[in-house]
Amino acid sequence: MIPNFTATNYDFTEYTKARNLIGNEWRDSKSGIADLDVINPRYGKAMSTVTMSDADDVAAAVAAAQAALPAWKALPIRERAQVMYRAKAIMERDLEELTWLTSHENGKIYSEAKAEVLKGIECVEYGCSLPNLAAGNQLEVSRGVRCEQVFAPLGVVAGVTPFNFPFMVPLWMMPQALTGGNAFILKPSEQVPLTTLRLAEIFKEAGLPEGIFQIVQGGRAAVEALCDNEDIKALAFVGSTRVAKLVYARGSITGKKMLCLGGAKNHLIVVPDADLQLTAQNVMASFTGCAGQRCMAASVMVAVGDVQHIIDEVARQAGEMVTGTTMGPLTNSISIDRITGYIDEAEKAGAKVLVDGRGDTADEGGYWIGPTLIDNVTREMPAGREEIFGPVLSIIHVDTVDEAIALENSNPYGNASAVYTTSGDVARKVMNGVDAGMCGVNIGVPVPREPFGFGGWNDSKFGNGNITGWDGFRFWTRPRKITSKWAIQKDANWMS
Ligand code: NAD
Repeated sequence: MIPNFTATNYDFTEYTKARNLIGNEWRDSKSGIADLDVINPRYGKAMSTVTMSDADDVAAAVAAAQAALPAWKALPIRERAQVMYRAKAIMERDLEELTWLTSHENGKIYSEAKAEVLKGIECVEYGCSLPNLAAGNQLEVSRGVRCEQVFAPLGVVAGVTPFNFPFMVPLWMMPQALTGGNAFILKPSEQVPLTTLRLAEIFKEAGLPEGIFQIVQGGRAAVEALCDNEDIKALAFVGSTRVAKLVYARGSITGKKMLCLGGAKNHLIVVPDADLQLTAQNVMASFTGCAGQRCMAASVMVAVGDVQHIIDEVARQAGEMVTGTTMGPLTNSISIDRITGYIDEAEKAGAKVLVDGRGDTADEGGYWIGPTLIDNVTREMPAGREEIFGPVLSIIHVDTVDEAIALENSNPYGNASAVYTTSGDVARKVMNGVDAGMCGVNIGVPVPREPFGFGGWNDSKFGNGNITGWDGFRFWTRPRKITSKWAIQKDANWMS
C-alpha cells in the first residue's frame, strides 16, 4: 500500500518511489535502465524516483490482465459502471490531496491543478453514464428477422500519456476503456508518474478487480513494447506530434486500434470589433494558463487590421502576472532553453518583444519563464511556425479575415482555433473556414466537453475518432451485430 500523499501547500515534499503495478503488486522493473528522478519543478529538486520498464514488464502486465479479464468482461456494464460511481466519490473526497499532488509533480498552481482534477472527475462521471448510453439498438430488419448491435470489449488495451495533465489525461481514457469491459495498462509520462499511483489506489478502493488497471512506468522502451505486444488490442497516445506519428505507425503494424493525439499551434484570430475586455482577458488566460503547457493554449494571435488597443491590454494584463503566484513553473528544465531560444531568434529576426518573461524567477528556484508577448512575428520565424509549449504568444498581423483564415490553414497542425468578434457573420465565416478540429467563438481554450469528443485534425491527431465522450467509448469497444430469427416464415424472403 502506498502512503497517502498529504501535502496541503507548495512546500517541498518527498514522495514514495513510482513503481510498476503488476496485478496487485508494486514492483521495480528489472530492465537495467536506470531509475529517473521525479522533479518538483517549483524547486527544481528531486522528490521521488521512477522505475523504467521494458518489454518484460509489459509482458507481465499483459499476462495479469489476461488472467483477470474473463471475470471483468462477463459483468454487465451496469455493474462495471458502479466502480466509476465509487471512484468519483473517492476523488471528490480526496480532491485537496489530488490537487496538491498534481501541483507538486507538474508545477501548475493550485487553482489550475484543482481545475484539472475536477475535469478528470467529470470524465469519470461520463463513465457512470455509459450503461444508459450504450444500450444497443435493435430493429426488425426483415420479416421475423431482428438485428441488434452491442458494444463488445477489445480485451487488453493501453494508454500512453504526456506530462502536462497527469491526472486528467489518463482519465480521458480509463472510464470508457474500463466500463467498456477491457483491462487497461497505463504508461504515464516518466516526468509525472506519481499521480497515477493514487489513481491506482482509488480504483482499488472503488472495487476494481486486480489486473484490470495496471501501471507500467518508463519511457520510450516501455512505449515501444506496448506498441509491439500483439496481445494488446488498442492503444491511445497523447503527446507530441513527433512521437504520436512514430507510435501510430509502430502500433498499427500489429493490427491494433490506434488513436494518437499530437501537438498544436493554435491560432486566435482577433478582429477590430472584438470586445476589448473579454478578448484581452481570454487571450491572456489562453497563452499563460498552465504556463502555456496546454495543447489547447493560444500560440499565435492573428491580428486583423487595427487591434492595437487589444494588444496593449493583453500586454498590460500579461505584465501583471507573477511567476510563483499567478503562474506556475515549467515542468522541466530543458523547456527553458528551448523557449528562450524561440524568443531570442524572433527578436534577432526583427520581432518586437512587448512583454519579456526571459529570466523571470520565483523564490524557490525551479524552472521559470514569465509570460512573453512577441509582436511582428512572421511565419518564417520558428516562433510563428512551431509549437513552443510555453507561455509565449506570437502576434502576426494581417489585413483581412480571409488572410487570417488562410494563415491559420497554412499551419500543419489542427488542434484548436478561435475567433474574437461581436459579429455573427465573421464568427460563422471563421468557424466554417479554419482547418482545425476544436474551434472557439470568443473562447481561447475551446475544449469540447462530454459528451463531445476531444481531438484535433491534421498533424494534431493520427487515427479516427476522438478520445473523450461517446467517441472514446466507440474507440475502446467494437460493435457486434447479432441477427436472429426464431420461426420459419411462410412468406420466405432472402433472409428467411
Ligand atoms: P512526448 O511526446 O515527449 O511524450 C509523451 C509520451 O510518450 C510520454 O509518456 C513519453 O514517455 C513517451 N515517449 C517520449 N518519447 C518517446 C519515443 N521516442 N517513443 C515512444 N514513446 C515516447 O510529450 P510530452 O512532452 O510529455 O507532452 C507535451 C506534448 O503533448 C505537447 O506537444 C502537447 O501539445 C502534447 N499534448 C497533446 C494533447 C492533445 O490532446 N492533442 C494533450 C496534451 C498534450
